Amino acid sequence: MPLKPSVLITGASTGIGAVYADRFARRGHNLVLVARDRARMEKLAERLRRETRVTVDVLQADLTDARDLAMVEARLRDDERIGILVNNAGIGAAGGFLDQSADDVTRVVNLNAMAPLRLAHAVAPRFAKAGGGSIINISSVVALAPELLGGSAVYGGTKAFVLFLSQGLQVELEPKGVYVQAVLPAATRTEIWERSGRDVTRLPAVIEVDELVDAALVGFDRREKVTIPPLPDADQWTVFEAARTAMIPNFNQVHAAARYRHVAA
Ligand code: NAP
Repeated sequence: MPLKPSVLITGASTGIGAVYADRFARRGHNLVLVARDRARMEKLAERLRRETRVTVDVLQADLTDARDLAMVEARLRDDERIGILVNNAGIGAAGGFLDQSADDVTRVVNLNAMAPLRLAHAVAPRFAKAGGGSIINISSVVALAPELLGGSAVYGGTKAFVLFLSQGLQVELEPKGVYVQAVLPAATRTEIWERSGRDVTRLPAVIEVDELVDAALVGFDRREKVTIPPLPDADQWTVFEAARTAMIPNFNQVHAAARYRHVAA
């Protein structure tokens, strides 16, 4: 039984997920890599085994496919060595809402929202029973800013779901010893831009992927609930959260607010 928990990372064939794999391997964690491109994952696995001597398993899975998703859920449920889940796989869609087909938007929701939900749901009972374990959910700053990236209603909606899911799970699972972190990257140099038909060179600023993941892991080590690597002033998030939570007691009313109570003309 290794002292360090194994880490299952979705979307580990490239980009942010591949850097998480590299960093957790260097920290001495065994890995389970999940994505569709087996050859790319095998190449990464071979390098990490050679350089770090950890064990790396490759699980080829399309997380929008019901059978593949069930296979990854079963691995999370049954493999007691896995103590960290990184819900990272994600895609965007080209164009705006009016250009995107029903299949496009369904695929985005299935990969970015349904898969992390189902994988967290599969592993949470085991973590809660053990009184430990971590779930890292990769959201996005777009979750807070529908104005960003024109054409991000569906992508941003999935990322807002991941943020809310993370915060909701923190309420339920933290008392049981399970740590849940939401990571909100801003534009990061990976293939996601090209894959979703967007030109990364037109963005005003882009973070390199190694720097993004190293920063997110600082937040992980500090047990931050929400980590926004590019945000210079952490107090802005604190103030935002304080404004949100200040509303909560005011939702409990037996009447509609005065501004909605009027006599129809
Ligand atoms: P990326 O470089 O395009 O990598 C995406 C990963 O997801 C790949 O490993 C890909 O592997 C995997 N993937 C795609 N479709 C899949 C499917 N159907 N089933 C299983 N795996 C699938 O993207 P990235 O930038 O690293 O994105 C990682 C996460 O960060 C995403 O959730 C994204 O929304 C989020 N994020 C990225 C940025 C950014 O600017 N890059 C900003 C904010 C948030 P295969 O093709 O081999 O399946």
